[in-house]
Amino acid sequence: MFPERMLEQRSFLRDEEKEVRFLGEEEDEDEESFEDEERDGFDVDGEILAKKRKKKRVTYAESIEDMDFSATFISGVACKPLSWEEEEEIQLKAKAEMAGSLCLTYRRTGLSLKGYFLSQLPDLLPLADFLVYLNLSFNCLCSFPKEVFHLKHLEVLKLRNNPIKFIPEEINQMATLKCLVISFNLLTSLPAGLFALTNLEGLDVSYNELETIPHDIGNLSALTYLNIEGNFITVLPCSVLKLNFLKRLKLENNFLHPYFWNEICQLQPQRLTDLAAHCFAKHKMWKKHRHIPKKIEEILCNFRICDCCPGPLYGDGLQFICAYKNEYGLRLPYLFCSCSPTCYQEYYSRATSQ
Ligand SMILES: [Zn+2]
Repeated sequence: MFPERMLEQRSFLRDEEKEVRFLGEEEDEDEESFEDEERDGFDVDGEILAKKRKKKRVTYAESIEDMDFSATFISGVACKPLSWEEEEEIQLKAKAEMAGSLCLTYRRTGLSLKGYFLSQLPDLLPLADFLVYLNLSFNCLCSFPKEVFHLKHLEVLKLRNNPIKFIPEEINQMATLKCLVISFNLLTSLPAGLFALTNLEGLDVSYNELETIPHDIGNLSALTYLNIEGNFITVLPCSVLKLNFLKRLKLENNFLHPYFWNEICQLQPQRLTDLAAHCFAKHKMWKKHRHIPKKIEEILCNFRICDCCPGPLYGDGLQFICAYKNEYGLRLPYLFCSCSPTCYQEYYSRATSQ
């Protein structure tokens, strides 16, 4: 029965004459309605007849379930419904933009967008001239937000709990920065540009994937707080000992135990080029050799000061570990690089005799 009725409904749209029957005169209810229409002004017989011809009755299905509305209804879909996560993301993004707008309106020097789960930041450029504090912790920033380089007066930047893999070299542009927190990220190295921030007083790179701390950390002369906990660090650079203002050094949950020292303190021979350059500089041979080829000159100019003496150090030098006690009596390993075997022997015998 059902397919037949479906057929009836569909064929009704194609050919009305087959599916309907005209209303008979014996149907009082409908007749009455026509009388009403007549009273309301249908007083011309021809017009009423024409109306009667149009009045048709469809052979309806017996129950609503049997009816197929697909052919007679237009079903519209406004848009694809958003998931709960997508809606929340849109709301948090809007809130973050609102926070930025309020900061601009009231010219606040601090802005916290902590825990907004943002993958992109709102426009921070309008805040460039006055923002001092910016908290972007607990977001979803996959890369270091380069927008912060435009914040000329920023002193505190917090980026805890983001999946950031590296800090770009351009961080050296943030000359006013005093505190950088970039813990619980995915950093595997620290850029040289970071150690150009001589105003930096606090640095937190804890719980990343760092294996070494660069020797250049000694350039951060204003540093009072350094947190390197929860990394894969086996030895500290000796330049940390030169940080005169360092009051707090946090380094738990690394590989600094003496058990690992033997593995990393194996002396490796120096490169002949580095040794030759060291001899050339030590004996001031440039006085005899006035015309030096450019390649040799480049090698001779590429040095840093030795960790054990005031002389020049070429290449990695002779690397060795010396353990020093910290303020709590804990012996910590520091990596030294000496310029020559003689320099190494002198320094090591002096250090171990103390
Ligand atoms: Zn030396």
